[in-house]
Amino acid sequence: MSVPPKITFTTFHNIINNELANTATTRHAICPSNEEPLGEVPVSAKGDVDRADERADYLNKFADAIEANNDELTELLGKEVGKPPQAAGFELSLVIGLARETPKLRLKEEKPIDDADRTAIVRYVPLGVGVGIVPWNFPLTLGIGKLLPALLAGNTFIWKPSPYSPYTALKLAELGAKVFPPGVFQALSGDESLGPLLTAHPDVAKISFTGSVETGKKVMSACAGTLKRVTLELGGNDAAIVCDDVDIDSVAFLSFVHCGQICMNIKRIFVHENIYDQFLAAMVATTKQFKTGDHNDPEAFFCPIQNRMQYEKLQKFYSQIGEEGWKTALGGEPGPKEGKGFYMPPTIIDNPPDDSSIVVDEPFGPIVPVLKWTDDADVIKRANASKLGLGASVWSKDVAHAQRLAEQLQAGSIWVNTHFELAPNVPFGGHKESGLGMDWGEVGLKGWCNPQAYWVKHSS
Ligand code: NAD
Repeated sequence: MSVPPKITFTTFHNIINNELANTATTRHAICPSNEEPLGEVPVSAKGDVDRADERADYLNKFADAIEANNDELTELLGKEVGKPPQAAGFELSLVIGLARETPKLRLKEEKPIDDADRTAIVRYVPLGVGVGIVPWNFPLTLGIGKLLPALLAGNTFIWKPSPYSPYTALKLAELGAKVFPPGVFQALSGDESLGPLLTAHPDVAKISFTGSVETGKKVMSACAGTLKRVTLELGGNDAAIVCDDVDIDSVAFLSFVHCGQICMNIKRIFVHENIYDQFLAAMVATTKQFKTGDHNDPEAFFCPIQNRMQYEKLQKFYSQIGEEGWKTALGGEPGPKEGKGFYMPPTIIDNPPDDSSIVVDEPFGPIVPVLKWTDDADVIKRANASKLGLGASVWSKDVAHAQRLAEQLQAGSIWVNTHFELAPNVPFGGHKESGLGMDWGEVGLKGWCNPQAYWVKHSS
């Protein structure tokens, strides 16, 4: 049996045709825990984009290679995103789950017509060169959920990480270079000018993008020029509807895990008025138990915000606490920044108006509104009153009642008595402005193909 490859984790390169390639200029990102510069990474220009091509599928060997480098990847992920060890370990477990399960997916040809006269087959043929554009919050999971189905379907793939967290992606591609034939899996790091080069490139057949709604719209419009296929996984403002017969703590966890920097965090919590006060008190008590720390702290739950841009965006939500007179059940507006690291206080807003920005917009940080409701039809209307529709959940001991409510929710994922539940063979994606198309599962795999109608007449 061959030994899975090991690589070094101190220098970073583009991976082009299985070779480590440097660029004329380099840049670095910042460690969110201490604001120290991280290692130098390439800044790709137009010439680097032109060099990407070819295909293959040795996905299980690649999963072995990831597992063999699990500890180093976990540590580097912690450093670049500011994830405490438990959170970085959780992300690696998601990555390995995807790497093990995705290769088991298969697309079958369908035969809607098959008679004495003729056969019609629906085939799924690869698109060509696929590009994955990835955000900074779950940089490995979100990239690998594009890479693996793209390769499995027979495409080649170029991974463009976020300039804020390019490190683990480059290392993953370096591992890929030891597994796949040249040109099958390539990675290009760059600054904010690189994405538009890829979306405009005539040889790219598909862009699978995960990021903000605003950038997603730019990507879609750039792809229109060459009619590239697009999948968009965009922002979320997930509602959780808590009925009056439950006693749950998990909502606090699901709102604040990764400091609210997940597309599928619970971002609006609608609690029935009969249990509102006790629910709020329990949520505050649970949240207070979560420790804050950096990527070296094994007990930390809350972590720094990943980058200064997001940190400054969040300040605007916090500053409205005083300006708008929102009541806080926990936390509040922070004082001036002290010391290193982009930390923000966990904050729960007590029943703000439905039209306040903390309810309408996605903060993407550790601040969440809890809202009171009384009537089934009304709470569904309020939960659906959003431009976004990524996920939504209903929590109740009466599962049939919860299902009746959940089935009226406008979102790409709906859950009963859970939230943020995912699996490699189940698609995920958004409705409304939360996205277009879905990643993962058979639906995700089909997204990396052109359907083709194939007609055969049995006699000429
Ligand atoms: P972003 O939109 O700023 O950036 C995402 C990626 O797009 C980065 O790699 C960036 O370099 C690239 N990019 C920027 N401008 C581009 C352009 N004009 N053309 C092509 N690429 C371009 O998003 P972010 O701040 O990195 O991520 C946070 C957002 O992502 C949040 O809104 C969050 O909800 C969303 N998100 C969605 C999902 C999902 O699956 N639906 C998952 C994670 C994050």
